[in-house]
Amino acid sequence: MERLLDIFFSGMALFFLSPLLIPIVIILKCTGEGELFFMQERMGRHGMLFKLFKFATMLKDSPNLGTGTVTIRGDTRVLPVGKFLRKTKINELPRYELTIPSSKQQVSFRPFLVKEQKTLLIALESQDESQILRAVVDTIGSCVYEPIKLETLATFDVEYVFTMIRSKSVGENANVNLKCTECEEFTEVVIPLEDIRIEIPEETPTVKLNDNYTIQLKYPQYKALQKELNSSDPDTMTDAMIDMIILCLDKLRTEDELINFANETKENTITFIESLNTQQFEDLIKFVQSLPKLKHDVLFKCDHCDKDNKVLLQGLQDFF
Ligand SMILES: [Zn+2]
Repeated sequence: MERLLDIFFSGMALFFLSPLLIPIVIILKCTGEGELFFMQERMGRHGMLFKLFKFATMLKDSPNLGTGTVTIRGDTRVLPVGKFLRKTKINELPRYELTIPSSKQQVSFRPFLVKEQKTLLIALESQDESQILRAVVDTIGSCVYEPIKLETLATFDVEYVFTMIRSKSVGENANVNLKCTECEEFTEVVIPLEDIRIEIPEETPTVKLNDNYTIQLKYPQYKALQKELNSSDPDTMTDAMIDMIILCLDKLRTEDELINFANETKENTITFIESLNTQQFEDLIKFVQSLPKLKHDVLFKCDHCDKDNKVLLQGLQDFF
């Protein structure tokens, strides 16, 4: 039934757009190479592929000519009518806006395409955190129009920006299965991705060690995290925690000096952390554990026992 409605409505849309479409078809047929459409694969709901017809505004062999898949102003591969369609953007991918949480930079982006979706799926299947992160960041790089310094993105920037791109690519909602705290059965819950926010404290966080020493902390960059994922395989939870803390240490303020942790060797920094007392160490752990991340409170009624549940989703994997 839904399928029938889809066909009905797209038929209606085609009918009403035909005064616009038919002249384009005629002009394309009479100019250029006489090709009307070319097909491109796009991602639909739930990651399903479908074929999309686009008007052929460029020479068939364009990807192999000149600047390849990149179209430049005055590109000789664009057909005469192609120029018009391109100018009027009938043929363009939609453009959306978002603000990068840490830098507050406003950028515009397009949904991701099949080639990017494929890379993401392969990475997800690998279950290798580092590979997933790389695929996610590469996708951000391709979909955001403005040049952004990918390597300076904080981990939560990556989570947020990717979630927004994904919401415009495969659907505005994420369907997640959540477990009931009462009967432990699962209920499917729909989460509107647009509602997800990231809160970042205004001030630079610090940890006061004593009257003379204060540590200035920073939000870890995804690049540093990825390097960490690649280089070490920590034996214990404490080692893993120390690795995370190192990524968050910015400067040590003493009475008369400001020491930059970036200039110290990892060994020196580890020695420094190990010389802290347990309370000071706890304070650093607290910071690591409260790093900004995607968060969303979900209220849902269990399908099986009717219990009202409240769950906090956080981090990228909770929203996939
Ligand atoms: Zn239940």
